[in-house]
Amino acid sequence: MNPLFTLPDFQTLAQTVQSPTSRDVEQALAARTPDIHDLAALISPAAESFLPEMARRSARITAQRFGRTTQLYAPIYLSNFCTNRCAYCGFAANNRIARRVLSFDEAEAEAEILHSRGFQHILLVSGEAENVVGVEYLETIALRLRDKFAAVSIEVQPLSTTDYARLFAAGITAVAVYQETYDPELYQQVHLSGKKTDYHYRLETPARAAAAGMREVGIGALLGLHDWRAEGLAIGLHLAWLRKNFWSTAFTVSFPRLRPAAGAFEPLVPVSEKNLSQLIFALRIFDPDVGLYLSTREEARYRDGMLGLGPTRYSAGSCTAPGGYSNPEMTDGQQFSVGDERTVEEVTQAIIAKGFDPVSKDWDSAFQAGK
Ligand code: SF4
Repeated sequence: MNPLFTLPDFQTLAQTVQSPTSRDVEQALAARTPDIHDLAALISPAAESFLPEMARRSARITAQRFGRTTQLYAPIYLSNFCTNRCAYCGFAANNRIARRVLSFDEAEAEAEILHSRGFQHILLVSGEAENVVGVEYLETIALRLRDKFAAVSIEVQPLSTTDYARLFAAGITAVAVYQETYDPELYQQVHLSGKKTDYHYRLETPARAAAAGMREVGIGALLGLHDWRAEGLAIGLHLAWLRKNFWSTAFTVSFPRLRPAAGAFEPLVPVSEKNLSQLIFALRIFDPDVGLYLSTREEARYRDGMLGLGPTRYSAGSCTAPGGYSNPEMTDGQQFSVGDERTVEEVTQAIIAKGFDPVSKDWDSAFQAGK
């Protein structure tokens, strides 16, 4: 059985990130190996006046650990069927949107388009409806795509360790599962029905994926639901616990800021680009090796400005509707509208113009044992 991750009371986390002083921030910036108290200081309001210094340190660490590279990936939305009702999501079961699930051939056609655009790393995404996109469906798609791509990741419903192991054997090497909010109370308020209402089962999912042998596991929280500083500290605690218990797994963090979606949901709290930057710099300083994502939820101007400062993974040319690459005119049924609408080529050029190498591949699934 996996060890269990437990989190301090969320109110305690919220208070902890408010209390650091400028002196605490200076100490955190001077620390050789920053600990969780240093992370709290770097996320705190007191650190806001240290942002330029944090950006410089974050950039320096990112260059040391990752070089002048940015990994590119693209999502393939397999299905927008969902049995859950999450108040903030366009795919929620109660929203009247055009629903569809891709056939195996359609999924392969989407993958073919991304392959022709140069992608070697794809992320298979779906709503959480296991009767529509179950393990067998994912396994079949993985087996069809594994030889075409260097890495195939999934962002689907939480699965058991056994199912993750089965998908790993089929060629899936990475799993992303976001807690959305680490506050159990708010979690119950925004997850209105469906299996996702089980806060603890979701919280334990990254450990199950790592225990199954997944090469990489991604965690994160939705920004715009709650106090981003407390969520950031919870992410740090979760990340540190995962590293301690699964030292051979690589970990990543995403920072999805809420975007307009079907159902007219508005973010509950504002999270500015400045706030997001502070969180990214703080996590980079706290964990030099963690992969940090900055998706097309964010605008082109902001993504370009953040190149090299902390994030290491950028999506590009993303479509969030199932079948959207094959049918670009189809926008009904998308999960959210993207903020950076540039083509892959445009994003690639912007990365090169800033002196970075866009990398479409940092791993080959052929390295996977038994393949
Ligand atoms: S966030 Fe995920 S689980 Fe919730 S409604 Fe959207 S697709 Fe379904």
